[in-house]
Amino acid sequence: MKPNFKRPPLSLAEVEPQTPRTLVERAYLGLRHDVICGKLAPGERLRVEHLKDQYEVGAGTLREALSLLVSDALVTSEGQRGFRVAPISLTDLEDLTNTRVMLETEALRQSIRRGDAQWEAALVQSYERLSQTEIDLAAAGSELWERRNKLFHEALIAGFDSDWSKYLLSILHRHAERYRNIAWRLTAAHSSGRDVHREHEDIFRAAIARQDARAALALEAHIRLTHEVMRQQASPTELTQPPDVSGHN
Ligand SMILES: [Zn+2]
Repeated sequence: MKPNFKRPPLSLAEVEPQTPRTLVERAYLGLRHDVICGKLAPGERLRVEHLKDQYEVGAGTLREALSLLVSDALVTSEGQRGFRVAPISLTDLEDLTNTRVMLETEALRQSIRRGDAQWEAALVQSYERLSQTEIDLAAAGSELWERRNKLFHEALIAGFDSDWSKYLLSILHRHAERYRNIAWRLTAAHSSGRDVHREHEDIFRAAIARQDARAALALEAHIRLTHEVMRQQASPTELTQPPDVSGHN
């Protein structure tokens, strides 16, 4: 499968939520948001007849949007039997984590070696914005933190000119975000003795100092910690239960 770069822009700064240009895109972004935040639960059957009213589109448009989510691996297609939200599991999270470490640390090393002054300036800006959110996370809210966290990670690897890496990493990021949302109460990313701001600071300082090996190690530790915390705290059954969306936000 070749990435379709005509899709909703992947590297476009998501400082503000994207504005959809077509009905398919609007339905796609709406569904994607609801899958990622856990409103549509892992394993849940997606009934076109029901969802088309909810997302205010026709059945054909909704099916097209669901097909796009299939290629993002957020939805599975069951042929004649329709669509389901992709399930989650600790095994999947482990695979996701390992793949992300592999791709993102190499992209970071390359980016640090090649990044110019413009890359550096954009990185500083995204780090400062993320830091503002991390000073008072409760006030900023997890959605804003997620957006700025994503932008910071994109800025880190922006110096590496590889559409494939950026495309694949953007998909992996969304899956990681879904795990964080679904298991927010488990990971309690910001209350389990973990200092996420410090982790970001370590990566940032090494990147600006052009220490690619040190930056890659800090990034790997950062990516692996979420998985570790979840692995230690979640029993396998907890990760297959529908999420408690009522407690989110
Ligand atoms: Zn991060």
